[in-house]
Amino acid sequence: MANSEFEYVKREFEFDRRLPASNWIVVRIDGCHFHRFSKIHAFEKPNDESALKLTNSCATSMLDKFPDIVFSYGVSDEYSFIFKEATEFYQRRESKILSLCVSYFTSAYVMKWKDFFPNKELREPPYFDGRVVCYPNMKTILDYLAWRQVDCHINNHYNTCFWMLVMSGKTEKEAQQTLKGTFSRTRISCFLSSSESTMFRKGSSVYRDKVETKVKTNDYGNPIKRMWLAVTVSNVDIIGPEFWEKHQYILRQ
Ligand code: ATP
Ligand code: ATP
Ligand code: MG
Ligand code: MG
Ligand code: MG
Ligand code: MG
Repeated sequence: MANSEFEYVKREFEFDRRLPASNWIVVRIDGCHFHRFSKIHAFEKPNDESALKLTNSCATSMLDKFPDIVFSYGVSDEYSFIFKEATEFYQRRESKILSLCVSYFTSAYVMKWKDFFPNKELREPPYFDGRVVCYPNMKTILDYLAWRQVDCHINNHYNTCFWMLVMSGKTEKEAQQTLKGTFSRTRISCFLSSSESTMFRKGSSVYRDKVETKVKTNDYGNPIKRMWLAVTVSNVDIIGPEFWEKHQYILRQ
């Protein structure tokens, strides 16, 4: 665009914050007023499987769209997206990265709604807030993910007990009162059935996993295989070292 006398409003007033180098960039988005949104759309309580699968599908689209996202983790109405340590996505400009993530996820949520809720009309526009945090080393990024997964575990325990009390005839206020203060992991573990979906207990991790596929057969009839990375959703433990030992390449990009 040609310069005009008004161009100073950009030059002198617009400042881009660039996120520090040598840090993993985490964008965490969270549904706004999803307590209400989940009621309006009659989500199953405590965990609506279709709603979780919808957000997982949106996260998969995010990894397809933005190759520098190396890992994401989601539970309830929130999702965290981790950009690789050395990303130069939009020169690490914070407002670009944050706004693109929030808007792309939100659009995907609206576009995919009918695939997961074919018999439910989307009655109001879902919207999400977002924040960016930088983690400077492997320990803090792994602790970040562990923090979210522990949170998932505790909230799932609480919510499962809460809705059991409600289904047994208590009002929501009474159920809240019953659990208030007395709530602890050990105290309520007896309520929980072990058959509960691992998605509810572990949350969902989305990342590129190594898969092997047969591409063709050679002249001797033996399969020729190719290794490639496919975006995968799994409900694994990401607190302990096992997952990260098996998938070291994820954070080493
Ligand atoms: P960037 O991602 O950098 O913003 P861009 O392709 O969106 O790239 P812009 O400078 O934002 O580029 O310009 C928007 C472009 O979108 C215009 O070049 C124009 O071609 C097109 N566009 C936007 N709105 C309209 C419209 N109402 N009618 C026709 N074309 C439009
Ligand atoms: P805020 O705007 O501050 O984030 P919120 O109402 O979204 O407020 P959260 O703390 O983010 O509150 O909690 C999300 C709420 O959305 C939970 O209380 C839960 O009731 C509901 N919710 C989200 N996902 C699901 C789901 N898959 N199944 C059932 N309920 C869900
Ligand atoms: Mg570093
Ligand atoms: Mg929320
Ligand atoms: Mg939330
Ligand atoms: Mg544009």
